[in-house]
Amino acid sequence: MKLFKGRIVSFKSDEKTIDIPDGYIIVDDMGKIIEVGQKKIPSGEFEVFDFSKFVIFPGFFDIHVHLPQFDQRARWGKNLLEWLEHYIFPAEQKFARDEVARDTARRFFNSLVSNGTTTAVIYSSAHRSATEIAFEEARKIGIRALIGQVLMDRNAPLEMLTTPERAKKDIEAVASQWHGYDDRLFYVVTPRFAISCSMELMKAASEVAVANGLYIQSHLSEQVPEVEFVRELFPDIPNYTSVYHAAGLLGEKTIMAHAIHLSDKELELLRDTGTKIAHCPSSNFFLHSGRMDMELIEKYDLDVGVGSDVAGGPFINMLEVLRDAYYANRISPIKAFYHLTLGGAKVLGWETKVGTIEPGREADFTIIDPRPLANVNDELTDVLAKLMFLGDDRNVVATFVRGKQIWHK
Ligand SMILES: [Zn+2]
Repeated sequence: MKLFKGRIVSFKSDEKTIDIPDGYIIVDDMGKIIEVGQKKIPSGEFEVFDFSKFVIFPGFFDIHVHLPQFDQRARWGKNLLEWLEHYIFPAEQKFARDEVARDTARRFFNSLVSNGTTTAVIYSSAHRSATEIAFEEARKIGIRALIGQVLMDRNAPLEMLTTPERAKKDIEAVASQWHGYDDRLFYVVTPRFAISCSMELMKAASEVAVANGLYIQSHLSEQVPEVEFVRELFPDIPNYTSVYHAAGLLGEKTIMAHAIHLSDKELELLRDTGTKIAHCPSSNFFLHSGRMDMELIEKYDLDVGVGSDVAGGPFINMLEVLRDAYYANRISPIKAFYHLTLGGAKVLGWETKVGTIEPGREADFTIIDPRPLANVNDELTDVLAKLMFLGDDRNVVATFVRGKQIWHK
């Protein structure tokens, strides 16, 4: 069994915290938390992790990130559709070569865990081989991940296009090997967005996802020119969200990123289908996409997690993404950290598995040294605010998934 000592902080809601200074956590050999307490540690044979000077948070979630765009961060000066064409499509095309896919996946996953991310929802490239390599590297490093091959059958370079039949075959082959692996790796069906997917392709994607119990992810209403293009491509469908609904892509296992330029009717549709939202504030600033209105999203009671959207967003470190979440919407540090942890777990339907530090949950932890910004036992809101506005990878000490240390300084 393992014993962790430190200040234990997790988030029950966007207002309620569990805060245990001088706390301890006992984790069994299966990686499950069996006891959380304070000060007087029970006797027993433990492998001890002494993080007394640090804060033990639930592992951070990045619920929207593009692996093959890892080296395309900081490509500035273009709007979304131009940026895709000039930088992203050429970069993603290179993932046809296994050595590019392998080298990038290794560096990408190492960067995620060294920045405190223990669960990531990932877009691969348009290549089945690169997607399989991403799964292999995720398995090796020990992170929790949902990964999917990007699907496109129009408005992208010819070599990156698929067909509905081929897409189904690719998904079934990779998902049969990886979906549910170690209850840690999962397949997420990934039509890129309505501009690069025909209705037939999106319908095929939804069918294969439903038939195999897979997750679904895509982009929704990120920029105005994109929304207008979707209207031209689907003139008979009243709005962007309804395009995905017509394809059968909305639902409780679906994550839509951005959700910026939406009408009330579309928000109702997202709510009624139980669709989840990935809020990507850094990307929304970087690409000048607009502002997701958190109050409006909350009015419709949608589940929201936070995504780095690398390389739309330049930061893989989620503390830096939280900072932008505040600039987009004046949210409290507690609310920000809630969305980063339990909020992310809820998006995946995993809130009884991970996302807080309580008995019965699996032991995913991100260990943070608040120094020199704050001391471990300072007032909690102050510690959170210092980390949210000033923190970065230098504050990350170690990451654990299911009680296993997958990275440390
Ligand atoms: Zn994205």
